[in-house]
Formats: sequence, C-alpha cells, structure tokens
Amino acid sequence: MTDYQFNFVGVIGDPVAENPAVPMTQAAFDKMNLKWKYIAIQVKPDGLGDAIRGLRGIYNMMGANITMPYKTDVIQYLDELSPDAEIMGAVNLIRKDGEKLIGENTDGKGFMRSLIEDADVNAKGKKVVLLGAGGAARAIAVELALSGASSIIIVNRTESRAKALASLLIEKTNIRAKSDKWDTSYIIPEDTNILINATSIGFSPDINSRPDIEYASISRGMIVCDVVMNPPRTLFLQEAEIRGATVIDGLGMIAYQGAIGFKMWTGIGAPVQVMKDALKHEFNI
Ligand code: NDP
Repeated sequence: MTDYQFNFVGVIGDPVAENPAVPMTQAAFDKMNLKWKYIAIQVKPDGLGDAIRGLRGIYNMMGANITMPYKTDVIQYLDELSPDAEIMGAVNLIRKDGEKLIGENTDGKGFMRSLIEDADVNAKGKKVVLLGAGGAARAIAVELALSGASSIIIVNRTESRAKALASLLIEKTNIRAKSDKWDTSYIIPEDTNILINATSIGFSPDINSRPDIEYASISRGMIVCDVVMNPPRTLFLQEAEIRGATVIDGLGMIAYQGAIGFKMWTGIGAPVQVMKDALKHEFNI
C-alpha cells in the first residue's frame, strides 16, 4: 500500500505568502529525497496559541519556523528555550524533543556560520561595529558575544534601541558593549575588525540606498557583512569591496540558518548550496 503521510514543517507568521524559506527549505528536502513538506502557515492575530497547540497535537508536524509578528509572543506557549533565544527574548524556530516544544533562534547562528564558512573568520577576540538594533541585529549581537567577540559598538537611527541592546549585552554576556549616536555620517573606528549592516537599508526595491557612514573609514583588513539578501550585492558591500575589505552577503546568513533548522528537525546535514541556489532563483539573481 502507498504511504501518503508526509512529515511537515513550515513558517508561522502573518503575512507569510512570499517567505523565501518555503522554496529554500523545500528544495533541500527534495534534494535529499525526504518525504517532508515545508509550508507557509498564516496565523490569525488571536490564533497563535491554537496554532502552537496544533503543533503539539499533530504527530507528523515536526516543528516550525516563527516569523513576524510572533517571534516574542510565541515564547509563552513553549516548554523550554535555548540559552541564546532566552537572552534575545525571541524565537524563530520550534523543534520537538519528545513531548516538549523547544524554542531556538537560528538567525544569529546562521550569521556566525556564514562568517566561518564564507570567509573563514572566527569571531573570538574581534572588535565589531553593528549598524541597526532590530531583531536581526539583536540575534547577531548575542551570538557574537557568546562566541567571544571582544567588543561591540551598536549604532542605530533610534538611539534608545541601540542603548537597550548594549545594556542587554552588558547584563547577559561578557562582551564590552556600548552604543554610539548616528546623527551624521558615522566614522568606523580604525581598529574595527568586523562591520555589519543589520538595518534593512538597501533591501529591494530600495537598492540605491546605503547606510550613512564615512565609507573612506573602511579599510582593507575589515570584514564587512550585510544582512540584506535581496539583492545580495548591496551598494554597502560594493563600497566596502572597492576599499579592499572582505565582504559577506546576506544570502549565507539565511541559507545557513535554514540549514541549521533542517539539521535540528531531520537530524541530517542540509545541502547548503542547493538552498542558496533556490534563494537566487527566488530572487531572480
Ligand atoms: P527590524 O524592523 O527589527 O529592524 C530594522 C532595523 O533597520 C532597525 O535598526 C531600524 O532602525 C533600521 N532602519 C530601517 N530603515 C532605516 C533607515 N532608513 N535609516 C536607518 N536605519 C533604518 O527588522 P529586522 O532586524 O528583522 O530585519 C532587518 C533586515 O535584516 C531586513 O532587511 C531583513 O530582511 C534582514 N534579515 C536578514 C536575514 C538573513 O538571514 N539574511 C535574517 C533576518 C533579517 P530604527 O530602530 O531606528 O527603526
């Protein structure tokens, strides 16, 4: 007899219809010949509790990604959090451990793996400047701190958010953290090792914008990263490349966070290149 039962996972959010995790993760399942489906799950504003109870009750729903606007609200419905998700106060992935639902955050982990795999960079002892203080910035900052980066300067348009993130890092991790004002073109301190754009500036269709920094202060020895993945070659990275810096685009971060989730759910290694190719196809690049 034919077995019609698939395992499934998906991305829970609102809206979710155009989430690139869907083609990226499905391509990985298909490549590995797994009988798994990845679906977009649009949850009503008052429906999150019911959705998570559904996840508990369904044998073959193996977990989920969580996206906007539920990354924080979902925590109340889970049994445990990973240490990094606990510090961030945000979950982007649920996995099952027996009867328990465990909340994880793979965004920052994806960034860290991209640093290692795409540029052979170990964050330990590094001095970091982080532009932005939203969800992506928080996830990256916490993982950098937990990986032993020595210091971080948070620079954000809304200064109160930069201060709050610096305070969180000081309170919960060992990194030296501070915030800086961002009112004129920001000059990157000379001793910076890693510069990261974790704002949404440059994301399609806003492709002619770039963060307001003093680009001449980027030097050859710096590693310059962008979380924006569409387009991957942002104006910010182009400027950094002109100045001889090593650049890392946002495609690696999203592909590796997907690969980490894939491994958590299935127990097997993900075909990362297939996932990157699926994203490029999705973004027409
Ligand atoms: P948030 O809305 O939480 O944060 C947005 C950040 O961008 C804030 O720091 C905000 O500053 C800043 N910002 C937005 N517009 C401007 C502007 N015009 N000038 C200066 N600062 C600005 O979003 P996320 O952190 O979730 O996402 C940020 C980016 O990261 C998005 O482009 C997203 O697609 C990308 N991303 C990429 C991932 C990947 O895997 N590659 C994973 C997750 C996100 P302020 O606080 O002042 O509003």
